[in-house]
Amino acid sequence: MIVTRFAPSPNGPLHWGHAYSAIIAHDLAAEQGGRFLLRIEDIDGPRSRPDLPDAFRRDLEWLGLEWDEVPAQSARLESYAGAAESLRERGLLYPCTCTRKDIEAAGAKPGPEGLVYPGTCKGKDVDLSQPAALRLDVEQALAEVGALMWQDSLAGEQTAEPHALGDVVLVRKDLPASYHLAATLDDAADRVTLVTRGQDLFAATHIHRLLQELLGLPVPGWHHHGLLLDGAGKKLAKTRGSKALADYRKAGENSRDWADRLRMDHWPCGISLGST
Ligand code: GLU
Repeated sequence: MIVTRFAPSPNGPLHWGHAYSAIIAHDLAAEQGGRFLLRIEDIDGPRSRPDLPDAFRRDLEWLGLEWDEVPAQSARLESYAGAAESLRERGLLYPCTCTRKDIEAAGAKPGPEGLVYPGTCKGKDVDLSQPAALRLDVEQALAEVGALMWQDSLAGEQTAEPHALGDVVLVRKDLPASYHLAATLDDAADRVTLVTRGQDLFAATHIHRLLQELLGLPVPGWHHHGLLLDGAGKKLAKTRGSKALADYRKAGENSRDWADRLRMDHWPCGISLGST
């Protein structure tokens, strides 16, 4: 049975980009009699707003979607810690005390997700009296698992190239996991068979595929959809003031019409579908 999910982070209200993502995931499951899951990704305590998960549920209802909700990330911290510990015991993680400034000063090059960590702390005795993150030793991990492939339903078969992202953080200085570790474990625990999300997370999948292999998790398929762009050709984002779904909801707009317009490629005013 197909299982898809929508996994918003409650650090800002949902906008049309989220609606598009949720509708795609919902419809892909519904067309085949599968399950569509809602997972609140509230691992980032300080940035998570407690009022938003309820607002998200109201927005999804307003769009006419039905879903099954699975536990939020804040309820799963123990499973993240257990998985990180098993990777650490196998020598696949190393502590890193670098700050963002240190990484910039070390001449790190830009990659698909910001600067690629240049390996400053790898193989060093770092001072553990300071807060330390744990990074994945990608080279060693790849030596353990060999070449990996993954399947995107739009982009086709992909060779996993986790090197491009470098030794990513799996355990943050302030949290028992990073997005990469938490989302990979959750998708497996929730038995997601098709990971649906925007193309902005395409590169992350190279790391997620590697983590699945290291942790013996099932391998789903992926569906990275195009992103909605605003009138200036930029990805919709709360930081750029993209209008919240809740504003349309509160203004009494007919949600089913809006949802159907998105399904038929009739984007809300000033919005278009981009491919990056
Ligand atoms: N929580 C992420 C976000 O709101 C989505 C992660 C995912 O779909 O894998 O951008």
